Amino acid sequence: MDKINNLINKKVGDIYLKEPLSKHSSWRIGGPADVLIEPYNIKQIIEIVQYADLMKIPTVVIGNGTNLLFCDEGLRGIIIKLGNNFSRYTINGKRVCAEAGIWTPKFAKILSDNGLSGLEHAIGIPGTLGGLIFMNGGSSGKCIGDIVKKVWAVDKNYDLIYLSQKECDFSYRKSVFQDSDYIICKIELECELGEKERIKSEMRTILNNRKNKFPLNYPNCGSVFLSNPVVNDTFAPPGKLIEEAGLKGYQIGGAQISEKHANFIVNLGNATAKDVISIVQYIRKVVYQRYGLCLESEVKYVGELGSLRSLHEIGKVE
Ligand SMILES: Cc1cc2nc3c(=O)[nH]c(=O)nc-3n(C[C@H](O)[C@H](O)[C@H](O)COP(=O)(O)OP(=O)(O)OC[C@H]3O[C@@H](n4cnc5c(N)ncnc54)[C@H](O)[C@@H]3O)c2cc1C
Repeated sequence: MDKINNLINKKVGDIYLKEPLSKHSSWRIGGPADVLIEPYNIKQIIEIVQYADLMKIPTVVIGNGTNLLFCDEGLRGIIIKLGNNFSRYTINGKRVCAEAGIWTPKFAKILSDNGLSGLEHAIGIPGTLGGLIFMNGGSSGKCIGDIVKKVWAVDKNYDLIYLSQKECDFSYRKSVFQDSDYIICKIELECELGEKERIKSEMRTILNNRKNKFPLNYPNCGSVFLSNPVVNDTFAPPGKLIEEAGLKGYQIGGAQISEKHANFIVNLGNATAKDVISIVQYIRKVVYQRYGLCLESEVKYVGELGSLRSLHEIGKVE
């Protein structure tokens, strides 16, 4: 408790104790974190990680928790949440800069209001810009990495460094950040000048398509399995394979393969992380037996001591 009191005295942001992680996950699943902190600036981020390392307390950085499954036990450590408190931005012609916590749909809208094109595809992605960079997320065949100029990050020596687009090593739903300890702090994008009405109309079309395709009435984490275009060409998108295998509506505990889109697992109300893991492994077993394809998940699983792994690696059955 002394360790935590020291941290509170340091005034490193808004601090919550025994915070239910279900409140910070779009699946609404997860036990309590010992501490959750929402810092306001880079100095506070560095202070938190320095102190945690010194005290050997695990830390996990999150954005909006829309691509994460927290374990049922929660976290014996500190969640560093980069969200609203850390979401300032500047616009300088076609170059825009934003802190990692900015909410992606809000930022896409701000850019469109300024006649800047490049982030239309992300209008319906409900996470932060930092999370989007980490995942190299996107839609409609586009990825955020396409328009990145620079990413500023805190490295494991507590220095603020920057990486060029090349150094970010973006590929389909991959970035260098997934294999490192960098904390993404600030992002510079290079947009194109565009006609406001055209940009807005494209965003409306994207949002309408998503409304029709995705199950928005139950908590979920978006697509569970990677829809890698190369694999899709050989087989088919994961949602189609799961649907053809007759698994739509399949349920374990409170977790269900969505009736609307088979690459979504929804929380019907009382799902646990264990239910989701069991359903993920069941899908992988059936799809492997039927098509010989090992599905991989884009969702990350956070263990009780702060380990971060792809969800398909948890409780493997084959
Ligand atoms: C309904 C729905 C629809 C979705 N549609 C799409 C889609 O069309 N395309 C798509 O790509 N994704 C989609 N997603 C998934 C998700 O929204 C994106 O991956 C999003 O970019 C994740 O952002 P986040 O802030 O929620 O990240 P989180 O889920 O909080 O974190 C994701 C990962 O990034 C790491 N991370 C987050 N912020 C930082 C940081 N600042 N520094 C270092 N590491 C960090 C976390 O540790 C974690 O490993 C969807 C999700 C939902 C719920």
